[in-house]
Amino acid sequence: MNLVHEPGLSFDTVALVCRVIEACRDAAVSQEAYLCDLDRAIGDGDHGTNMRRGLEALAAERQLLSAMPLSDAMIAAGTILVMNIGGAAGPLYGTLLLETGKGLSAGQIPFPQAFLQAVGAVAQRGRSSPGDKTLLDVLVPLSEALVKQTDMRCLAEEIQGFADMTIDMKAVRGRASFLGERSIGHMDPGAASCALFATTVCHELMETARS
Ligand code: ADP
Ligand code: MG
Repeated sequence: MNLVHEPGLSFDTVALVCRVIEACRDAAVSQEAYLCDLDRAIGDGDHGTNMRRGLEALAAERQLLSAMPLSDAMIAAGTILVMNIGGAAGPLYGTLLLETGKGLSAGQIPFPQAFLQAVGAVAQRGRSSPGDKTLLDVLVPLSEALVKQTDMRCLAEEIQGFADMTIDMKAVRGRASFLGERSIGHMDPGAASCALFATTVCHELMETARS
């Protein structure tokens, strides 16, 4: 099954977008303490709260967002995330959605290519690259896998592994970089939240394909 590349599949997209947003909000609420614990180890302990606040704001607008064309919805969602997540992660998550939406609205490029370009924009914004122990350590391999048409189930199984790889990395960007060598041995909170949301989206898409 490959939902991203399957032109023949048609969904009730309004219901799907609503469900994806709700599932991500639920994941942010249930994992708030876990993400804060990760951030407490190498940052300031607010990442879970930042993400929960952003996803709750997004969920409050889910009816409106789900009625829009996907490109417009992603641009609007990116703006909501920038305004509500805060911290270092807010502008980065916001850029990811905004730029994906802009790529889609420019037309003719499929979702995986738009997402890949958006990840490039996140890297530019954060002046960071894979190996720096940030959310890019999940976003870059994830976007590359999507372009290679990875099966949704295989992808879902791989994603957490990307975040796990950050445990052995030394942070060179963001607050965790202040710790230098002492950041080694802890998972990056932004990588962990990215893995959480990406896995959640994959599972929702697989559920939709089953029903
Ligand atoms: P803050 O660090 O301002 O408290 P958060 O705790 O919400 O913000 O987010 C921290 C996460 O943001 C980090 O775990 C990392 O993944 C990501 N991050 C921080 N700075 C950068 C950067 N320059 N490039 C990419 N990601 C970054
Ligand atoms: Mg923080």
